[in-house]
Amino acid sequence: MSKNHANFSYWETNRELFKGDILIIGGGLVGQSIAIAIQKQKKQLKQKPLNVCIVDKLPMGQSGASTRNAGFACFGSPTEIIDDLSREEENKTINRISNRISGLSIWKDWIPGNIIEWDECSGYEVFEREEEMNFKEVLNQLPYLNKIGESASGNPRIYSKHQRISSKLPYSIRIEGEASLNPGKAHNSLYNLNQELGNQIINGVNVPNRNYWHKNSEGWTIPTENGIFKAKRVVIAANAWTPKILDSDLDITPGRGQILMIKSAKPINYNGVFHAKKGYLYFRNSINSLIIGGGRNLFQINETSLEMITTKEVQDYLEAYARDVLLPNQDFSIQNRWAGIMAFSKRGNKDPLLDWYEPDLLIASRMCGMGVALAPIIGIKASKKILE
Ligand SMILES: Cc1cc2nc3c(=O)[nH]c(=O)nc-3n(C[C@H](O)[C@H](O)[C@H](O)COP(=O)(O)OP(=O)(O)OC[C@H]3O[C@@H](n4cnc5c(N)ncnc54)[C@H](O)[C@@H]3O)c2cc1C
Repeated sequence: MSKNHANFSYWETNRELFKGDILIIGGGLVGQSIAIAIQKQKKQLKQKPLNVCIVDKLPMGQSGASTRNAGFACFGSPTEIIDDLSREEENKTINRISNRISGLSIWKDWIPGNIIEWDECSGYEVFEREEEMNFKEVLNQLPYLNKIGESASGNPRIYSKHQRISSKLPYSIRIEGEASLNPGKAHNSLYNLNQELGNQIINGVNVPNRNYWHKNSEGWTIPTENGIFKAKRVVIAANAWTPKILDSDLDITPGRGQILMIKSAKPINYNGVFHAKKGYLYFRNSINSLIIGGGRNLFQINETSLEMITTKEVQDYLEAYARDVLLPNQDFSIQNRWAGIMAFSKRGNKDPLLDWYEPDLLIASRMCGMGVALAPIIGIKASKKILE
């Protein structure tokens, strides 16, 4: 927090914005899911609702990653799972897939699919001709992948060989159960559900670093330039920004994800959520447009950033993929470009960070680029910790 309040009056800074049970910092899918899960759990226990507030530094309707992703509701492409299995015990991989699948099914419990344009379109991992060896390896491992998938979901045939997608993408594997959604509508529908449950959401307030907070027997007092927050317990669901708030060397590093959205006069026929180049590139149809994202792995140093901006090198790479592979003989124009910030582990841990940082201060961050799938399940797990 700046010590010089030049832009804020004394009255703006010295007032109470919230006094209650739980303050959640971060109003993305995770923060909002935690607030929802708390009230749902209280209801199940037949107890009075808690007094919960969510605060986010961005204006209403915006977030770091939650409203900036490509709208994939997915749980794991074959090459990702093969890679995970090569580095860790089988049970860890199964648990991760199972958490993602549970998260996706909670979405469907919480919000009617039509409100968030939930489309059970299936996922596809696609391979170019020069990736034939990778495709063959996946084919060899299909029975094993399906055994892993069955342990995670009960479905014995999640992965199956699929037909060619195009001359440029001659090999593909179908992933049953993956879907797409509209991220803006998903974020907004959680907002509406929070309002229905009586949770307060305050946007446009930047919570300062932990060093400015105070704690006494009644709980936390957090001063901000817009006013004071008081809460018995605080949850940090700020994903990539969590280390900045705690000023601490947590195992969290930002990863920027960039998207290119293009439109064409001719129909674009990619119906499904598509994973390419070992998951580092992804695309899908959205009405008459094509959404392409990824490429972060090729520009890793520049993309380890908290700046929500697009860059020429990544956008050129995505555009070249559209021109050379996806729409080779088709004119198209650029409709939109944007970037969002994800959070990963510096040490390659692929699981979220959900733990007490100190008494009454919980961290629920580091979604490792899978927070669409994970938000509701992390919401439930975090709410159990908070209410225990
Ligand atoms: C391009 C892209 C593609 C993706 N693809 C997928 C995918 O295929 N599948 C999938 O499951 N997930 C995907 N994701 C990841 C998914 O979007 C994220 O994991 C998820 O949205 C994280 O939610 P969150 O609430 O933890 O974080 P965020 O949405 O970043 O929310 C955290 C919030 O904290 C707020 N905040 C930070 N600091 C402060 C502060 N000091 N004071 C107040 N507020 C603060 C921020 O403003 C932010 O809104 C993708 C993301 C991107 C960007």
